[in-house]
Amino acid sequence: MSRSAHPAGPRHADVLPEGHYSAPPADLNALDPKVWAQTVTRDAHGVVTVGGIDVKTLAEWFGTPAYFIDEADFRARARAWRTAFGPDADVFYAGKAFLSRAVVRWLHEEGLNLDVCSGGELATALAGGMPADRIAFHGNNKSVEEITKAVEAGVGRIVLDSFQEIVRVAHIASSMGKRQRVQIRVTVGVEAHTHEFIATAHEDQKFGIPLADGQAAEAVRRALQLDGLELIGIHSHIGSQIFDMSGFEVAAHRVVGLLKDIRDEHGVELPEIDLGGGLGIAYTSDDDPREPHEIAKALTEIVSRECEGARLRTPRISVEPGRAIVGPTAFTLYEVGTIKPLQGLRTYVSVDGGMSDNIRTALYDAEYSVALASRTSDAEPMLVRIVGKHCESGDIVVRDAFLPADLAPGDLIAVPATGAYCRSMASNYNHALRPPVVAVGDGDARVIVRRETEEDLLRLDVG
Ligand SMILES: *Cc1c(COP(=O)(O)O)cnc(C)c1O
Repeated sequence: MSRSAHPAGPRHADVLPEGHYSAPPADLNALDPKVWAQTVTRDAHGVVTVGGIDVKTLAEWFGTPAYFIDEADFRARARAWRTAFGPDADVFYAGKAFLSRAVVRWLHEEGLNLDVCSGGELATALAGGMPADRIAFHGNNKSVEEITKAVEAGVGRIVLDSFQEIVRVAHIASSMGKRQRVQIRVTVGVEAHTHEFIATAHEDQKFGIPLADGQAAEAVRRALQLDGLELIGIHSHIGSQIFDMSGFEVAAHRVVGLLKDIRDEHGVELPEIDLGGGLGIAYTSDDDPREPHEIAKALTEIVSRECEGARLRTPRISVEPGRAIVGPTAFTLYEVGTIKPLQGLRTYVSVDGGMSDNIRTALYDAEYSVALASRTSDAEPMLVRIVGKHCESGDIVVRDAFLPADLAPGDLIAVPATGAYCRSMASNYNHALRPPVVAVGDGDARVIVRRETEEDLLRLDVG
């Protein structure tokens, strides 16, 4: 991404501090609808509201830090994906982005299926009422116990990730007198991240079975021979936070090539193809994600075209968006604590959370936006770095952003687009108490995952 430095620069700098920031927005009080959940707006007093409730009230009721999820927005996005792909395709929400029983219920009600990749996620999916046949079970190292639970529960599919797992799942299913529906996850030699994709020669990663050297074809051969397995399709997942559809195009081309080889060798046309997830969202105003209907149209056309070329019946498509559904629907609310201006550099703004509630900045150098939420301000823009309260200098929530220069301890600030991979990756570092997730909608707010307490922490510490 090309980004220009703030033209005015921090007041005392001879040289602009390094960083990824563009010029301050024309209006620091504005809330770009691209990065904020649908119902987020400012009320008559300038306080940010979501679902009809202002953040000062929310902070009083639930404390900070806390994640607030816009239920109407979540449901609308889930529905948009479902509608875009229509009755001849399946949308599996990737539970690892964020999963709770309430979310499972919303997904069920909106007609989506669900991906899980651990025994814990499977337990949550079942406890939330997702019918087992609408659950797909993923993972590169599923334990025998997890596989047994999944087969017992009757999950709709297990996505096989290795040769050993093919045998393991077949054995477990057979010993229960069952035939488990499975897909084989292949690596197609495409790696996609954000604005580009790379077609790699080597599938140098832990997930999937490489397609290029014939291993995937061999995996199919073995799976077709085993009584405990019903092979229903091929799976490919190429990356995350992707905006460019050309990676999917190459992936679909290669997966359909495999389907054609399978037809030629075995006389079998596999009925399903799963293209994974990874569709990008806007974390800052510089990101321009695609709408579900554009993605659905593009993917459906690519697969149909490839299948026509290979004279195959077009298989049923499934996709697995996680981030693209839940990411934009939530924000994290923090209270500002210490403010430390460093002359010629930037101002460090400490909040009451940090890398324990959002590890993505430290882990991936992720970019986020931030807004003063408890009031508006006409003060000058100030270049800030939002940092947490943890004992780690990499404990950064927002690397570079602008907030009004009159920012003061006690102000509430909100970081948007934290619905995905924040609560689900949260930790107890420094014995932080993981924040609650609160669903807000129609003037009502309800805790769906409560805040941890010191008793919760001490319960695990058996002394
Ligand atoms: C992580 C993952 C997804 C979801 O990715 P998003 O970036 O959240 O859309 C989908 N499928 C598989 C197999 C994954 O590992």
